Amino acid sequence: MSDIQSREAIIQYAHKFNSSGLSVGKSGNISARSEKGFLITPTGFNYKELNNPEDICHCDIDGNIIEGKWAPSSEWQVHSDIYKNRTDIKAVVHCHSTYATALACCNIDIPSFHYMIAIVGGGQIKCADYATFGTRELSENVIKALGERKACLLANHGQLTVSDSVENAFRLAEEVENLAKQYCISIHIGNPVLLDDAEMQRNLEKFKLYGKKNQHE
Ligand SMILES: [Zn+2]
Repeated sequence: MSDIQSREAIIQYAHKFNSSGLSVGKSGNISARSEKGFLITPTGFNYKELNNPEDICHCDIDGNIIEGKWAPSSEWQVHSDIYKNRTDIKAVVHCHSTYATALACCNIDIPSFHYMIAIVGGGQIKCADYATFGTRELSENVIKALGERKACLLANHGQLTVSDSVENAFRLAEEVENLAKQYCISIHIGNPVLLDDAEMQRNLEKFKLYGKKNQHE
């Protein structure tokens, strides 16, 4: 994907933050890997006012601004570190969606209560330890909680997803929010029955066969 296509995708999905209910107001941020580093939503923008591809901030891999008139999202550090640590990743979405954040505020991992957990490429969605937003410490905690998976929660903060495109990272964030909602309801009813490791392994293998688009039935 060219830089201009990435800028347009970031704007398109930043608008969807509000319409999908994943994020309200200015919270949340989106980035895409570029040849020189990464493109990322600027800080302090109300997303419905983000319409110009030139408003997207271009940073080198260390987070130094190389193009753009606005400062990058306050969470640029975690985006930068993910691109450095995960060469398979081309896009990152971070938001404070309600149910994922509610679980994160209780510092709860989402276990294998539903086969769809395998969509993140593992048997659970881990919650990263708390650290102040925008810090290197938070970034390190997120890298650890992600491991080889594509999603994690951030304690007392929100959720984060990674994928091969902005669209897929955004769709995954919607899926994580949906799973978080189902898990919240399940634990409210009682004790959700967990799928064992062997069954989750079967689900993981099946998801691999569905390919990069995360399609499933
Ligand atoms: Zn945040």
